[in-house]
Amino acid sequence: MPKLIDSFNRQITYLRVSVTDKCDLKCSYCSPAKGGHLKGKYTEYLDANEITRICQAFIRLGVERFRFTGGEPLLRKDLPKIASNIHELEKHIDLSLSTNGTRLERYAQILYQSGIKRLNISLDSINPKKFNTITRGGNLEAVLRGIIKAKEQGFDPIKINTVMIKGVNDDEIEKLIDWSMDCGLELRFIEIMPIGQPGVDSMHQHMSMQEIIQRVENHLGETLIPSISRQGGGPAKYYRTPSKHLGIGIISAVSQHFCETCNRVRLTSRGRLALCLGQEHSVDLREPIRDNISDADLDKLITQAIELKPERHYFNENRHNIVFQKMVSLGG
Ligand code: SAM
Repeated sequence: MPKLIDSFNRQITYLRVSVTDKCDLKCSYCSPAKGGHLKGKYTEYLDANEITRICQAFIRLGVERFRFTGGEPLLRKDLPKIASNIHELEKHIDLSLSTNGTRLERYAQILYQSGIKRLNISLDSINPKKFNTITRGGNLEAVLRGIIKAKEQGFDPIKINTVMIKGVNDDEIEKLIDWSMDCGLELRFIEIMPIGQPGVDSMHQHMSMQEIIQRVENHLGETLIPSISRQGGGPAKYYRTPSKHLGIGIISAVSQHFCETCNRVRLTSRGRLALCLGQEHSVDLREPIRDNISDADLDKLITQAIELKPERHYFNENRHNIVFQKMVSLGG
């Protein structure tokens, strides 16, 4: 089986597939307060068959893990169809979803039936008022109902992703730990990243991995021990405590980058293959597909694109250069 290897000898085993750049929430570090919703003609977006074709090429190139993201992927009505198309290609392919959970109650069952088995739910607060403020209008109750439905459905694991915003939700670290343990959910804290203008503007609220670890240890009264396993093959560092049955993940993209182990690239909903979250390198796949590129040439195009993957991001050194990137297009 061919492998996708970049110029720094990293193997690409994971594709994040953004199915829309529209979102029903406007989180402070992700979307501008006013405007900012991306507009696009229907034809600018990849359709279900085009997304399936690109994923099929990645499968031929040895990729076995796909995560649907967005914008908010559940705004796209044909997401279950896209997922089941890919599931039908190869039953062993690992399909997962990142969602804000607002529509999960309605879609959990059909998503599970379509072959998606793992879920990440973004949730920055379990205080209804604060949740509404951070997301600029979100309804916490709807997300919590979605989580219950997803658990009933059997998604496993369900991970809660919490972006730490100093002075806004850091007072909830302890509550979030207790709540996620009670609910049997995995908790991951994410450092704010300077991506897009809202991300760059939020960096004064950045909380580092070290600060988060300190707070977790104080709360649990125990020292966190790094877990050896790299659960999920993702970027989070996992920690456990000697006595409590608890795993906590931290995504420290800014204070301690993990680019040397990066195994992923991103497909945007408009068909660009983005090679790094913090850099602009990308290659268009939409037009070649619409021009009926052959499978062999599509594989070659992707293989050559991977060679352009930069060595690392420069979140700390080069902040002003990344305001052009938009998290809502890249999918996190
Ligand atoms: N709507 C889906 C969701 O909420 O999970 C998928 C897209 S969202 C862009 C993916 C993740 O990126 C979310 O967990 C969100 O909190 C995170 N995110 C967005 N902007 C960020 C930033 N500037 N720094 C860190 N994480 C960010």
